[in-house]
Order: sequence, then structure tokens, then C-alpha cells
Amino acid sequence: MTASFPGLPDRIKDLGELASDLWWSWHYRARDLFRRLDYTLWRSTAHNPVSMLRQISQERLDAISHDRAFLALYDDALRDHRAARASHDSWWSQTHADAAKSTIAYFSAEFALHQSLPIYAGGLGVLAGDFCKEASDLGMPFVGVGFMYPQGYFHQRVTADGWQEETYEILNWNDTPTRPAIHPDGSRCIVSVPLGTRTVHAAVWQVRAGKVRLFLLDTDIEENAPWDRGLSARLYGGNQDLRLQQEIVLGLGGVRALKAMGIEPSVWHLNEGHAAFVTLQRIWDHIEQGASFDSALAYVRASTVFTTHTPVPAGHDAFPFPLVETHMAGAWGGLGEHRERFMALGAHDNGMGTQFNMTALAMRTAAGVNAVSQLHGEVTRSMFTSLWPGTPREALPIKAVTNGVHANTWIAAHMGKLFDQFLGTEWRARIDEPEFWDRVLDIPDEDLWNVRMAMRNDLFRVIRDRARERWTTDRVSGAQAVAIGTLLDPTALTIGFARRFTAYKRPDLIFRNPARLAAILSALRRPVQIVFAGKAHPADEDGKRHLQQVYRRASDPAYGGRVAFVDDYDLHVAQYLVHGCDVWLNNPRKPLEASGTSGMKASINGVPHLSIGDGWWAEGFSGSNGWLIDGGRSGGNHDEVDDADADALYALLEQQVVPMFYDRDAHDVPRVWLRTVKEAIRTVMPMFTTRRMMKQYVDELYSPAIAAATRVGLGD
Ligand SMILES: *Cc1c(COP(=O)(O)O)cnc(C)c1O
Repeated sequence: MTASFPGLPDRIKDLGELASDLWWSWHYRARDLFRRLDYTLWRSTAHNPVSMLRQISQERLDAISHDRAFLALYDDALRDHRAARASHDSWWSQTHADAAKSTIAYFSAEFALHQSLPIYAGGLGVLAGDFCKEASDLGMPFVGVGFMYPQGYFHQRVTADGWQEETYEILNWNDTPTRPAIHPDGSRCIVSVPLGTRTVHAAVWQVRAGKVRLFLLDTDIEENAPWDRGLSARLYGGNQDLRLQQEIVLGLGGVRALKAMGIEPSVWHLNEGHAAFVTLQRIWDHIEQGASFDSALAYVRASTVFTTHTPVPAGHDAFPFPLVETHMAGAWGGLGEHRERFMALGAHDNGMGTQFNMTALAMRTAAGVNAVSQLHGEVTRSMFTSLWPGTPREALPIKAVTNGVHANTWIAAHMGKLFDQFLGTEWRARIDEPEFWDRVLDIPDEDLWNVRMAMRNDLFRVIRDRARERWTTDRVSGAQAVAIGTLLDPTALTIGFARRFTAYKRPDLIFRNPARLAAILSALRRPVQIVFAGKAHPADEDGKRHLQQVYRRASDPAYGGRVAFVDDYDLHVAQYLVHGCDVWLNNPRKPLEASGTSGMKASINGVPHLSIGDGWWAEGFSGSNGWLIDGGRSGGNHDEVDDADADALYALLEQQVVPMFYDRDAHDVPRVWLRTVKEAIRTVMPMFTTRRMMKQYVDELYSPAIAAATRVGLGD
């Protein structure tokens, strides 16, 4: 069942099918198709074909259905789409024919597939979205399970004084590529979850991402009491109590939704601890079918994969036992005598006393556990050593699979076309072949530089459009219009910094020595500018203060309009930033960045990374594909570490980055700079994209889980 768009002329009637499958968003021809369909609507809807098809005029549709170039593109996109959905000759079908019937279910509290489906906050969601897309590209039998938050995550506005304000918008369902999940018998899929002493119902929505389907739970339905209708309204919007209830609905409800849809996964992947109650529901199901607690646990463990995402202790959900007792009351009926054992699975002392810790629960109930970079693997092994008593830290069964980004999503159209021209169109099939990418070295400097400038221009056009919108519609002050980037210079070396604002990421580190920075920014003939973006979590007051520090600089004449803060960071803004800046800055307090992915997005677009050697960069930096900030200090004295790191950052900018960028030949081409640009693409594309990552998940986690679950079985 596809959403219907009644006015579509027969010749292009399947535009609706294309618009309703987010596959279009990472397929270059389909993207081009919708851009050409109506460029004004394309821009005004922030690239939302569902919304475009609702608004487009009949005249335009009739006209374009006779446009030969458009029709050729349409036929190609449609053909590619059908091939992607069928995927007879996919990587999976060629390499895992024996596992053809094994479905992998991926549970995540957020999915960032596209800005038209705003059910994500940041990096965790982007990874989940990129995961689904890669699974589709590789032809894997993969389903995602999450929440449909009718109010999504908040929108950010910044006051004249730099204070973040949060607003929520009610989603217009008609503008999203969602549709009700339907049972094989044609009825609407709704599941019930025991919560406390009551039953909560969740409607299930379905989203298509190529071969992959996503099932999203939504408690905002009539069957529920008013307070329960709001349970799934917002992502990360409530207190601990609400959060726990959401996680119970996600875990228990998610398992029930798959069952109701007739899907029987072989592998259950928990993306972060939020989804760990999945294992409880599964243990419970097996006990009901007659298994003992131990054999149910052994079977569930064998078939569960868990990925942990942060070394920051506060990033791991932990709840007081009484709260878990209260909200799980309805489940105990089924678990009976096993309730104590279940509670013990979550027990963990993270330094604040023993609580019910979702990460501990996931680690004890998953045989396959991984961190998201090599360094994060080491840190995770030391954080959770106590969960494996008697096992030496190095021997803990916690693997490391470094994150990657989905190349077809994150590569700029300009860059993709350049690759088509100089590497051959097969580059999309050879993403994870390191030798193939040596061909990047043969791209003529002039062509690469022209593309880099075009990408930069696109960024400044978007920043200006947003500034104009704020100026005319929101009537912001002159200082605010400057802060948002009005005075930026489209030819100056542009440093990008965009991510969640929180203390350990040190967003204001570059301002540590204001005079030294001002000298760098305003050097005659070698100007430098910085564009910031990012939201602070609504409850992170400290993060908001860091944001304010940055914003005040952006509106301070002392910085000459060369510092900007672009508000309401989302996937849409992220695309332009990672394409259009010249350098991508990341300066977390090591080792608190688990992986980081925005630097990967930037690098594959020829925007070299300037970063602390934390997360992925600890293994990604080659010596010539970007720059490593190393102040040589570590430990608990933050002031000392920050001073040293800021010093190292300034030195790199003064002695390497800026001089190299402005070292031009007679044709104004920065040849030495372009060597770094090429190295960034050549080294990051094969190693830090989801193609390599997903194959590693299959080899190291999914295949062993499929095999182990078969071996362990449920024999009592
Ligand atoms: C990539 C991305 C992130 C994550 O970036 P990090 O470098 O991992 O912090 C967050 N938000 C958006 C919108 C992104 O596109």
C-alpha cells in the first residue's frame, strides 16, 4: 500500500511510489528527479518529495510528464528502484545464501534517515539511519524498530543573548513517508504493552528504506489514556520516569510488533541500552513456551548483539530499582519466580550506587557486544570489567567495530559526479576497496578545486537564505543576523564545527586565547572564519552555557563577523556544512568521544579533519590526510589540558592549515592543499563508510549470532 497522489499523470504515476520510499534520498538519480520536478518546491519543502507531491500544481505535473529529459531520468530511477528492492544479485545473496531466511532486527530509540522524518536527535540516530541504508544496499534481510515521535526532537532558536530555546512542532503525518503497518489479514497493526498496572497500546507505522522496513511505535491513539498518549510524543523530552516507560514500550512493544507482523528475527541488535528490554520480552516468551530461565537466557544471549555508544557514564541509562519495579509490575505476572533473576541482570554500580543499568542489562543478555571505535573498545572494557568477574580486562568479550557513514547519503552531488567522471561510475560498488581509491590521486587539481568551490558556494547560499529568513520573518536584530553568518566571506578558509553542544566536546576551546584567535581570523589576505552549529540537550544547562559563549562571540564585533552560529542543526544543515567547509574541527576531551562521524562525512567530501586523536581519528589519522591536535597533556586537570590542546590547535592553524590553504599557483589553485584533500578522500572513503562497517558487523557479530543461536537452541 502506497500513499496515493491522485493527480499524477499516467506516464509518471509511480512518482508516488518513489516518493514514499526513502531510498530516493540516497540515490543520486532519484534525488535529481525530484529536484527537477519542481525546484522551488524542492527548496521550500527542504527536499521532501511527499510534501512536494501534495503541493505541486496539476499544470506542472502535466507539463513535466512530456519533458523528455525528465522522463528518461524517471525511467532510470524507477528501474534502479525496482532492482534495489528485488536485489537478486546483492552482496548478501551472493555471500550469505545459506542465511537467506535470517532476518536481522535492529532496535534504536532514534533513526535519522532524512529530515522529512524528524525522529532523531544526533549521532546515534544518524548511525542507525546509515545502518538501514547500507543494509538495503547490501541486500540484507533487515528491519528497524523504533518510535514514531509525533513531536520529534526540539527545534532550536537562539535568543539575542545566545540562550537556546526549545520549541516543538506537531508533525504533519501527510508530509512524511510513513504509512500504517498492516497485518497480513489487512487489519491495522496495534500492539499492547503491560506498563505498571495498566495496558498501553501502540500503533505501528511503517517506513520504507529500499529493501529495509522500519516499524515505528506510537502511543498517541484513542485507546490510550491521555497521559499514555503522550508517552511517545517527544524524543528525549521527559524525565527519568517517562524515559523508563518509553524504553519499556520500545523493548516489549517492539518485540510484540515484529511478532504481530509475522517477522521472526534470527539476530536481535540493540543499538544502545535504550532497547535492552527486548531481551526481557524474549526471555519471557520462551519461558511461556516452557523453557527454563537459564535456557531462555542462553538462547536469547546467543542471538542478541549489543552496541554501546559512549564512554560518558551519564550517557548510560540507569534507573532506581523501585522505579523499574513499579513500571514493570505488569510483566512480573508472566515472569513470576524469575523476577529477582531478571532484576539482577541489570544491577550495576556506576559510581552512584547500584541501580538498574540498561547497558549492564544489555551486556549480560547479549553474546555479541561491541564498542564503536578501537579506542572506545579499550575504554568500554575498563568501564565494565566488573560485569565479567574473574576475566582480565584485555580478555573481555567486547569487540570494536568502528563506525562509518553511508557514502551515498553523505557525498555531495558535485563530488559524486566528479568521481563518476574520473574514477568511473563503478565507484559506488567499490566503496570499501582501498586500492580503488588510489584513483583519487589522478583527479586533476583544477577540477577538484572547482568542485570544492561549488560546494562552498552552496553552503553560503544556504546560510544567506536562512539569515534572510530570520531577518525578514522572525525580525531578528542586526547583531543576530550577523551571528547567523551574514558577513561570512565565500572565499575565506572556513572551519566547520557542528555537533551536540556539551562540555566534553569543548565547543569554545578555540576561543581560549581570544587575541591569538582574532589574529588568525583577521590576517590580511589570509582570512579565516568559523561556522558553528549544534543543539544542547534540553536538560544540559552547562551545554547551553557553552553554546552561549560561542554565540556571544558570533555577535561580537571584535570577531569581525567571521564567527557564525547556524541554528537548528539537523540532517539538512549537516549536509551543507560537511560539504561546504574547508576544514572540519573536532576537539573533544579525550577519550570521551566514542567515535564521532561528522569528520568522516567531511573527509569523504574532501574536507580534511582537524581533530584531537580521539574516537575514529585515533585510527583514521594517517599523517597526511588531515591534522592531529595533540597538546601532550592528559588527566584530571582540565585547565591544563585545555590550555595545551588550544595551544596545539593554534599552532596547527598558524603554521600548517592557513599557510597551506592560501599557497596558490599562478591559476589560484592550492596544489599542496589539494594533496591533503585527496588523501582525506582516498583514506577515509574505503575505511570509514558503512560498507566496511556493515561487512564487519556481519562477519564478527551477525554471522556468529546466527550460528550460535542455531547451536544453542532451546533444548531443555
Ligand atoms: C553526523 C551528525 C551528527 C553526529 O556528528 P558527530 O561528529 O558524531 O558528533 C549529529 N547530528 C547530525 C545532524 C549529523 O548529521
